[in-house]
Amino acid sequence: MNEVKKPKQPLIFYYLLAVVAIILFNSLIAPMLFSPKVTEVDYSEFMRMTEDKQVKEVMVEDNQILFTDGNGSFFKTGLMDDKDLTQRLYASGAKFSSQIVEQMSPLLSLLISWVLPLIVMIALGQLVSKKLLEKAGGGAGSMMFGMGKSNAKIYVKSTSGIKFDDVAGEDEAKEILSEIVDFLHNPKKYEEIGAKMPKGALLVGPPGTGKTLLAKAVAGEANVPFFSISGSEFVEMFVGMGAAKVRDLFKQANEKAPCIVFIDEVDAIGGKRDGRIGGNDEREQTLNQLLTEMDGFDGSKGVVILAATNRPESLDPALLRPGRFDRRVPVELPDLAGREAILKVHAKNVQTQKNIDYAAVARAASGASGAELANIVNEAALRAVRDGRRLVTQADLEESVEVIIAGYQKKNRVMSDKEKMVVAYHEIGHALVAAKQSESAPVHKITIIPRTSGALGYTMQVEEGEHFLLTKEELENKIATLTGGRAAEALIFGQITTGASNDIEQATRLARAMITRYGMSSEFGMVAMEQLTNQYLGGDTTLACSAETANRIDEVVRSLIAAQYEKAYSILQENAQPLHTLAKYLYEHETITGEEFMDILHRTQAQIAAAPAQA
Ligand code: ADP
Ligand code: ZN
Repeated sequence: MNEVKKPKQPLIFYYLLAVVAIILFNSLIAPMLFSPKVTEVDYSEFMRMTEDKQVKEVMVEDNQILFTDGNGSFFKTGLMDDKDLTQRLYASGAKFSSQIVEQMSPLLSLLISWVLPLIVMIALGQLVSKKLLEKAGGGAGSMMFGMGKSNAKIYVKSTSGIKFDDVAGEDEAKEILSEIVDFLHNPKKYEEIGAKMPKGALLVGPPGTGKTLLAKAVAGEANVPFFSISGSEFVEMFVGMGAAKVRDLFKQANEKAPCIVFIDEVDAIGGKRDGRIGGNDEREQTLNQLLTEMDGFDGSKGVVILAATNRPESLDPALLRPGRFDRRVPVELPDLAGREAILKVHAKNVQTQKNIDYAAVARAASGASGAELANIVNEAALRAVRDGRRLVTQADLEESVEVIIAGYQKKNRVMSDKEKMVVAYHEIGHALVAAKQSESAPVHKITIIPRTSGALGYTMQVEEGEHFLLTKEELENKIATLTGGRAAEALIFGQITTGASNDIEQATRLARAMITRYGMSSEFGMVAMEQLTNQYLGGDTTLACSAETANRIDEVVRSLIAAQYEKAYSILQENAQPLHTLAKYLYEHETITGEEFMDILHRTQAQIAAAPAQA
């Protein structure tokens, strides 16, 4: 998009300019204007004037003598070693003063040296801003000295605007939003039948999934101006400023209708008003203003407000009721097909080899957001440049998936042999437990090259297909798989390491969720004892049960994980032979793919099956 931003300097810039101007004025210009003119005369002239009784007032300073004649002129002369000067001056009737140069009254001097320049500056500023206003054809200049005006940037519609095609995947979101586009194109159609367009839609989803991109695409498709502002920009220091910004934003939007107003991170202003003492007055006022404006404007004019958030549950209910953001557009993390499509969209802008297998890259990048996928493509291009190649290869893309997810390879970090061996057994432990439970390839790839993220090994899980429901058994198997790493360490080396901390965290979270949210324990049954508070940002939970119940939950979680650990341990015990072979392979090659893994597993199993028969 061709953003046309206003030539607007921050307010502080003008304040600084004014201060500098005033200092200059006071130190250079004011003395010239307001100090009296002093004529320098030689000492003999001074003596003559004293004799002629022309000296009216006199002041002897450290290195000069200042004096006046009767007619209001000022003179100065150098100081001489003249012993009876005082006597002579006294005799001539001169008056001795300590302040010979007449001073202005303090009030007047303050007025002249500080207030006057300020007035001049403001007048000048007004003039300049008016000039700009004329040039820009209205609207622009009013921002220059405006306090409490909106900083919404105006994106003037451009022919090279972002379209829905630039947003890959997210088909449901596009479908919902295309209705808005249609409305902006042809409001009559809706008016005739008496249908009212929703005034606002709320884009909800994790960070980096393309919410901003979608909003821009709506504006691009409808070919209307796009106003964008972040919720945090409304949050001001002084009560009332944020509300003024909201008012101004809607005023501008109404003038430019039809148009799209996009408020990013709307939770910064739209959080629940909880009536706490000492609550945030400014934020509440801003929110109230937003609600009022949304009610106030005429929906048929074609101002559509899109807002994005990744914390929908924290929004004030008033914001979500019909007539405001009543349309909720989920923008979720892309699935396998979505990831492939996003990779392709971004790969269009880089030079790649022919027949790149994007599906394979997408499979490896499981869980990545649109922003991360865009980053993966860019990282691959950078890698190609580093290696002095002109085209991006499949290997570039696959390596950059690992870079984005696990960090750069630590080339010079050498793990001790013992450590490497432990890591190999740990990772194979996970994979083997998973494989024995599902009888299918559990991993895409395992590497034990240390990464800058601190991970010593890295396992790419196989995409489990479209999977929305998980059975209790599947969840238990997952926990068993997570404990598999530690179980392998314990089984083979008889000692345990710190390498399992992340596994432990995940296993605990899963086990807790099974009991407190999914109702999967016979003891507690279908009672919700925890609530998810932050679905899109890590998934924090809050406990909602008595202390005794919480204690009991802890115990049940512990025994659930312990049981799964036992299961994992015995699976590994029974499959000690494949465990050794696979770990040795991984130790030697540092990388093992899913196919190699299954291959070796099946071969060793066949050998074991054949061995007793031969004996
Ligand atoms: P959000 O607003 O949801 O945090 P953005 O819209 O700012 O995310 O996305 C950041 C960047 O990620 C975009 O500029 C784009 O390059 C890329 N991106 C995200 N989602 C998609 C998508 N579905 N298709 C193509 N690019 C995407
Ligand atoms: Zn592990």
